[in-house]
Amino acid sequence: MSEDLRKVAIIGSGPAGLTAAIYAARGDLHPIMIEGTLAGGQLMLTTEVENYPGFIDGIMGPDLMGAMRKQAERFGTEFLTDNVTEVDFSERPFTIRTSDRVIKAETVIISTGASARMLNVPGEKELLGHGVSTCATCDGFFFRDKDLIIVGGGDSAMEEATFLTKFATLGTVVHRRDSLRASKIMQDRAFANDKLEWKWNSTVSEVYGNGKVEGVKLTDTVTGEVTDFPTGAVFIAIGHDPNTKLFEGKLELAGGYIVTKPGTSETSVPGVFAAGDVVDSRYRQAITAAGMGCMAAIDAERWLEAAH
Ligand code: NAP
Repeated sequence: MSEDLRKVAIIGSGPAGLTAAIYAARGDLHPIMIEGTLAGGQLMLTTEVENYPGFIDGIMGPDLMGAMRKQAERFGTEFLTDNVTEVDFSERPFTIRTSDRVIKAETVIISTGASARMLNVPGEKELLGHGVSTCATCDGFFFRDKDLIIVGGGDSAMEEATFLTKFATLGTVVHRRDSLRASKIMQDRAFANDKLEWKWNSTVSEVYGNGKVEGVKLTDTVTGEVTDFPTGAVFIAIGHDPNTKLFEGKLELAGGYIVTKPGTSETSVPGVFAAGDVVDSRYRQAITAAGMGCMAAIDAERWLEAAH
């Protein structure tokens, strides 16, 4: 196993990590990014991104990530296409292990993101980005004057359902029980919305369509009865899981998310910084993640300058 000592190691290659890499590389810190075998983060699963500033006509998610990666590379970021298997933050320099490398780093920026929970039903994966979406803010606009469904009964589902009725003709919330998990205020707002209908005790057991979503099969969780439900889009809002398994017991976490000192990217371990969806259950946007990546690179640079 080879061993390197780096000033900055970045784990995770979504907008937060790549922005951190651009800033750290331009700051002459020669960062190494361990980008994972499925590099690029959640934007690799989307189609058109229309709300990332600077792209008047929109840009495809994978193209945006490809451009960020090239920009990070241009300033000298080294990429390692592997997954991190273990980290040790108990002593400095910190240690990051992959399947065949040991990287020692004076600072670490964690930007491992979050994964939207999926239903894991037939058709869902194939039609992701073609009517199946996990982000109403990103994709709602594409379903103007269409009928659509929202799956879930929590605050996210209520928020997304309410937001989607700005565009959709009708939204149907599909929830697996007969009462919502969402907070009272979010429930009240959703119930008062006459563009929302409700399918209680129901799960989506299949998504179908030829190149784009045409409908779903709903299964009644009480009777087991399966019905056909034509619809133009399926918004899945059943929660997100931050990708923090590697950091359990090594950094302070809250609800699975890495805790950072307010207004900074500092984690509970000095010299370890975190940015993007791995710290953020609230905004979850590419542009907010990128902003946090910038903060993390600046925090790391200042921390190194202070010669800890
Ligand atoms: P959540 O509270 O965990 O709710 C997930 C919902 O999805 C639940 O209703 C759950 O059903 C359902 N669900 C989970 N797995 C499912 C599956 N496999 N099939 C069908 N349904 C499934 O997640 P969240 O709504 O994303 O909220 C996460 C956190 O962020 C919460 O603390 C929430 O309050 C907060 N949040 C706040 C706001 C706000 O205040 N503006 C907005 C969004 C999120 P069950 O109810 O049966 O478990």
